Amino acid sequence: MIPLVDLTAQYHSIKKEIDAAVLSTLESGHFILGPQVTKFEESVASYLGMDFAVGLASGTDALVIALRALNVGADDEVIMPAYTFFATAGTVMSVGAKPLFVDVDPQTYQIDVSKIRSAITPKTKAIIPVHLYGHPAEMNPILEIAREHGLKIIEDNAQGFGAEYLGRKTGSLGDIGCLSFFPTKNLGAFGDAGMVVTNDPALAERMRMLRTHGWKKKYYSEEVGYNSRIDALQAAILQAKLPYLDSWNEKRRELAQRYSEKLGPNLVTPIEREWGRHVYHLYIVRSAKREELQAFLKQKGIASEVYYPMPPHLSVPCRKFGYKEGDFPHAELASHETFALPLYPELTLSQQDEVIAAVHEFVG
Ligand SMILES: *Cc1c(COP(=O)(O)O)cnc(C)c1O
Repeated sequence: MIPLVDLTAQYHSIKKEIDAAVLSTLESGHFILGPQVTKFEESVASYLGMDFAVGLASGTDALVIALRALNVGADDEVIMPAYTFFATAGTVMSVGAKPLFVDVDPQTYQIDVSKIRSAITPKTKAIIPVHLYGHPAEMNPILEIAREHGLKIIEDNAQGFGAEYLGRKTGSLGDIGCLSFFPTKNLGAFGDAGMVVTNDPALAERMRMLRTHGWKKKYYSEEVGYNSRIDALQAAILQAKLPYLDSWNEKRRELAQRYSEKLGPNLVTPIEREWGRHVYHLYIVRSAKREELQAFLKQKGIASEVYYPMPPHLSVPCRKFGYKEGDFPHAELASHETFALPLYPELTLSQQDEVIAAVHEFVG
């Protein structure tokens, strides 16, 4: 059986360090905020070259709190790619705003920057580029459009931790960068966890307040906030894992390149633009016979998965905006033809060869 991702393999590769981090947190008696959380926030800020990081309960909360900190709310619109995980759109709706979708580049699956300008209206407040699958969005044109129109940029970097755009880390390029440490992400916790990063001290302070009920001073709420702090236990685990992130991402890149060379013309394999460094959170391929191929792989004990079978504009919560099938053809076609093959740093070459052989056998 070859799984899509093997979290146990990663745990066992650094078990001593993880166990020590967990035990020392249990001994410390600090479970909510405290020194472990501060240390991990400083480590991530420094990794990304940012001034401030605020640890939160999840990547979803990171998006919500970023939107709140930028005063995005009722009657506002937020531009985002038409192909992404639902949370990007769901969080915008949860603060009362409307997602304005823009179709994606069919080769990289990132927001098509040539279509952003025509989507902007007087109600547009922000753009959320998503570094989907670990490939960076094309940030310079996005930054230029945002400057021209006075829009804020929230990077959804949940899948792109360690990725680069023109040599700069994704998540460090907009007003606020959002991270997720969901267990399967490139840096994964043993539960839910997330973070926001920024260089703006006022935004950092507001996001710190929002994660604890809008408190400036304990028990004195300045506004309605949340209970959304990263667990000290997760912060300690992530601190132990962070030094491995670059080598794990490198391993993902090597395996991805090997897949692409060997799968050759049998499948449409992912590309990396010359301005980007892809960290392959997911290795996404494309086939018009997706369902048959996935069934064939399953029979051989090889996992695969569709990310995502439904573009957010066609989801039930988006119906009220009047979006319909045909609005974003590249996103819709991707939802019918793309899927992920097993890829994680601990995948062995012989396991990968099994996947490759199965694909070749299917194609014949
Ligand atoms: C995982 C993910 C999120 C949400 O992160 P959680 O930690 O699961 O809440 C948001 N956006 C994208 C693109 C994601 O992949």
